[in-house]
Amino acid sequence: MNAKIITLPGDGIGPEVTAEAVRALNGIAAKFSHHFEFEEHFIGGCAIDATGTPLAEATLDACRNANAVLLGAVGGPKWDRGEVRPEQGLLGLRKGLGLYANLRPVKPHSALAHASPLRADKLAGVDFIVVRELTGGLYFGKPQGRFDQDGHKRAIDTLEYTDVEIRRIVDLACRMASARRARVTSVDKANVLASSKLWREIATQTALAYSAVTLDHLLVDTCAMRLVVAPASFDVIVTENMFGDILTDEAAVLVGSMGLLPSASLGAGALGVYEPIHGSAPDIAGKGIANPIGAILSAAMLLRHSLNLPREAEMIERAVDRALSDGCRTADIAQAGERVLSTQAMADAIIERM
Ligand code: NAD
Repeated sequence: MNAKIITLPGDGIGPEVTAEAVRALNGIAAKFSHHFEFEEHFIGGCAIDATGTPLAEATLDACRNANAVLLGAVGGPKWDRGEVRPEQGLLGLRKGLGLYANLRPVKPHSALAHASPLRADKLAGVDFIVVRELTGGLYFGKPQGRFDQDGHKRAIDTLEYTDVEIRRIVDLACRMASARRARVTSVDKANVLASSKLWREIATQTALAYSAVTLDHLLVDTCAMRLVVAPASFDVIVTENMFGDILTDEAAVLVGSMGLLPSASLGAGALGVYEPIHGSAPDIAGKGIANPIGAILSAAMLLRHSLNLPREAEMIERAVDRALSDGCRTADIAQAGERVLSTQAMADAIIERM
């Protein structure tokens, strides 16, 4: 197959890990006789430096005309005080491409139990995916802002959801669950919030179309607790934007390092943005020690979701699994005395096993 992939390496360790994900994709292309064309653009802080804006219209257009987008990370201390923030590039990309769903699979590797804050017995059997609504809710609500009233400073954010927004994300969660263990947990705060009452009502209606799927509802506070007490009880978690933002970070620490997890942001069509869940890690940028696994597994998600190449995706995932089982470690997941691989050497170890 021929595919055009836009790469947006971004800032900090973004370029370091994206380069390794591209090498993994080139390895797949060679093995399966695919032709992947890569085109690199700026996003985030480096885009502010080059063009004055974190996401140029031309970059967004290039993404719209591609099959998929592979992103590194954005941000860093250099741009923390500026008027324009690197993260606005990410929000603009999601909104501009209509990417309403963020998928984060969480599956700890048994060889890395030492790196997790949870006991190994709690981690056994953990394999779930969080489906987070990405373009609605508090982060996009209007009105929003600060104002003075009656001599006091006030600030307002608005949490709004429509039935259409809830239905399409719960529908996606049910479809994903149908190909897994057929269990969806919808997370809300329906005992307090009107938007959550609507969420629960629409989620219940939507799941009726999937007779094989079991739907449970959980309050967000209970979900936060259950993620550490019984993480193996989840299959697919679906939730609104801000709850998802918080729960996915909590879920991420279960596996032992921010460097390990991939994510996909999807919309109505096949086009998606794929990125590791970590940020630009300025503390380790430029040292060649970042873990490339989150980025490489994001490339696997790209193959599966945007290019419909599940065999190729599995080849990467199995190679990562084997590299970890064989004791390959970057600094973030190594125990005392273990040999530590550079970013590039870890990617080599994975590509060799493909
Ligand atoms: P971070 O994820 O960049 O780093 C948190 C910690 O995890 C650091 O100690 C870092 O060294 C470590 N880490 C992260 N990725 C790693 C990897 N691949 N291998 C090994 N260790 C890794 O979060 P932060 O420090 O809070 O944020 C740094 C910058 O990144 C900020 O400017 C923030 O706004 C931005 N950020 C961007 C994104 C994104 O681009 N999607 C997400 C989160 C944060």
